[in-house]
Amino acid sequence: MECRFLRHSVVFLDMKNTTPHFLQAFDSYKDITPQLLEKYCIHGILVDLDDTLVTHNFPTPDENVRLWLNQMKQGGIRVCIISNNQKKRMMSFVADLDIGYFYNSFKPRIHVIQSALGVMNIKKEEAAVIGDQIFTDILAANRAGIKAFLVKPVGSKSTLFIKLKRYFERNFLK
Ligand SMILES: [Mg+2]
Repeated sequence: MECRFLRHSVVFLDMKNTTPHFLQAFDSYKDITPQLLEKYCIHGILVDLDDTLVTHNFPTPDENVRLWLNQMKQGGIRVCIISNNQKKRMMSFVADLDIGYFYNSFKPRIHVIQSALGVMNIKKEEAAVIGDQIFTDILAANRAGIKAFLVKPVGSKSTLFIKLKRYFERNFLK
């Protein structure tokens, strides 16, 4: 994959020769089960928060998220939530969850992903990123050399920046 990075977080992509890649795309994080992860020999997942688990303005995990996280725990899958959002948002979400987390992650930078693998005590071959954005979640996984699953965003944001990102992401979803 040919990528060049400038000032850490600005990404230049050669659209002809670069293909961010993921193992599978799903309608929802709920479609990803411990059984599926086992098939890929994945024992730990690094899960995006906003628009992957809940909409960006939904402050706490809903019942479906809690059930899914419990399902992962029962299946022996280690879970860490990794978000580019800020501390306040993350603390609201994880307040009563027994789970690892990183905020201000600056994906597609990979330093937080590498830290998370260390905290989870898991090899990169046994880990996967789950997220809704190609240019942050999937690209970070690709750059870190770990597997990735793309999920459809739970909600839709109305900012121009997000709309533009979704527009360019469509090129990789055909
Ligand atoms: Mg997201």
